[in-house]
Amino acid sequence: MSNDVRMVFLGTGGGMPSPSRGVSATALQVGGEGTQRQFMRSSVSFMKITAVFISHFHGDHFLGLPGLVQSMNFSGRSAPLEIYGPRGAIDLVKAMLSLGHFSLAFPVTVGEMDDEDVVDLGQVTVTAVAGEHSVPSLSFVIEEKARRGRFHPERARELGVPPGPMFGELQSGREVTVGGRVVSPAMVMGPPRKGIKIVISGDTRPTERLVRAAKRATVLVHEATLDSSLLEGAKNYGHSTAREAGEVASAAEVDLLVLTHISNRYDDVSVLLDEAKEAFTNVVAAHDLMSIQVRTAMDLPADEGSEGRAEGAGDLSGQEERRSGS
Ligand SMILES: [Zn+2]
Ligand SMILES: [Zn+2]
Repeated sequence: MSNDVRMVFLGTGGGMPSPSRGVSATALQVGGEGTQRQFMRSSVSFMKITAVFISHFHGDHFLGLPGLVQSMNFSGRSAPLEIYGPRGAIDLVKAMLSLGHFSLAFPVTVGEMDDEDVVDLGQVTVTAVAGEHSVPSLSFVIEEKARRGRFHPERARELGVPPGPMFGELQSGREVTVGGRVVSPAMVMGPPRKGIKIVISGDTRPTERLVRAAKRATVLVHEATLDSSLLEGAKNYGHSTAREAGEVASAAEVDLLVLTHISNRYDDVSVLLDEAKEAFTNVVAAHDLMSIQVRTAMDLPADEGSEGRAEGAGDLSGQEERRSGS
């Protein structure tokens, strides 16, 4: 059962949109079955959004919602949509969605989250962490549930299982019978593997709470609105400097730090990257439509060439790719 995890930074600016950076939004795609290969090659499809998490109610973080929901409606969506945000979300979102006087053809549910509240989305859970901003704000910790263990094709072959559909059966957790003998998944699979963990800071000052919540995350996406020469401004407006983002990443011992919510005063982000690197080396600055393959599915049958490829929670490519087109 393959399961790709990809992040796409839809907007990476702090505050007002600029020609080079749209307002802040990050998409997380957790691959389903069947269509995922096409999905990976396509741009993010707004129709495939199952849940929207709003960190706080500053315009640059939620005003895109009515348009998004209306587009879904015009495009014939029937699947339900879940929307979550901090306290006040239910009234605000309902008011927003009734502004346009269009009746929705699909169900929308709105939920409010407090610190440590958890939403279970099936393959992942999302935990809220209270931020420290000028208005109530949340960071989000997205954790993949433990995954099945690694499939060992050589063990299966030793037990007489021929490569092919039976390998798939075993990998899906079903036993197979070969020559009258039952081979169970436990005989050919390793122990369950830890899932990945992605943390998105939203707008916030650096906090101990976030350091704890982000402990050993695969990816930490932290706001880095300003550089350290503007620390006082960052403090006044409840934002973080790039150095502070690096310090959070270092204290939390994450694998990769991505800086985002970058003020439009920076045409060149090297000042931000450089100071973040003083605290934490594995850092990149997000740009609009940057995508990160957090983990590529590698649970393919051995005869598709996956054998021997390294994989694991810490094995992210960290590679970015620029996407062309829309
Ligand atoms: Zn913001
Ligand atoms: Zn804000």
